[in-house]
Amino acid sequence: MLDQIKGLHHVTSMAKDARQNNVFFTEKLGLRRVKKTVNFDAPDVYHLYYADELGTPGSVMTYFPFPNIGKGRPGVGEVGTTVFAVPEGSLGYWKERFEKQGVADLEPETSFGENRLHFSGPDGDGFALVEAKDDRAPWAKGGVPTDQAIRGFHSASLRLRDGGATEELLKFMGYENVDQSGNVKRLAIKGGNGADIIDIETLPGANFADLGAGSVHHIAFAVENRARQLEVRKALMDTGYQVTPVIDRDYFWAIYFRTPGGVLFEVATNEPGFDRDEDTAHLGEALKLPSQHAHLRDYLEKHLQPLGN
Ligand code: ZN
Repeated sequence: MLDQIKGLHHVTSMAKDARQNNVFFTEKLGLRRVKKTVNFDAPDVYHLYYADELGTPGSVMTYFPFPNIGKGRPGVGEVGTTVFAVPEGSLGYWKERFEKQGVADLEPETSFGENRLHFSGPDGDGFALVEAKDDRAPWAKGGVPTDQAIRGFHSASLRLRDGGATEELLKFMGYENVDQSGNVKRLAIKGGNGADIIDIETLPGANFADLGAGSVHHIAFAVENRARQLEVRKALMDTGYQVTPVIDRDYFWAIYFRTPGGVLFEVATNEPGFDRDEDTAHLGEALKLPSQHAHLRDYLEKHLQPLGN
């Protein structure tokens, strides 16, 4: 069993409209946009990062807004719900806030003994807030009082036709079974960064998801540094997984592999972080370009949709 993985690093999803996406995460959820850059493989598409003040791993929600993308169709083989932690007693505030803001599909519920509020993102993205004891510091300037503000990810759920092999993989990665409720198994990692839980929801007869706007593209797990990442890569490959080479993503190094249930996993380093090319006081403000796309700056600044803030 591996001990290098420290919980979630980031979750990356797809959206249709960049401006709407930016408004939702900064003005409705009160997260900080910590980076405005572009997709390495499609530089005319943004890559937007929303997180706590510094983009701490375990708090980082990222988006590729593709203007012409169709809507995703939920199913198995994907991340179902991405869950953010909020302080105990704060869901009343959030429900009222979301009602005022017209956030869709509000649904309070209790799950694993925790109070949750389900809601949808602008493209039908499956989200929830959960009340949790969590000592991570929130972004204090996002327009949400710090007594209520989002602390980071609490968990993510994987919707799978057969959860068995993915459960084994997660255990290999260092997760342990901690609870079960109906068709959902809860796994958690000890000594993680706070974003420590993965729920596996098994839906044997369900159709596979069609990825599109509102779908999670991949989910990334955190390791401290590149040495730990290489250890994880070797261990996964020795177990038979096909893992990509290490890829420099400017703010972290990444490896990717497809899991038995169909979900794309990434393992990302905590180094070098989002302040490598911007002062922490101004994270996310300027358009940052990967060096290979720097020559496109004039074109991109004219053609990328203005975000509004
Ligand atoms: Zn990623």
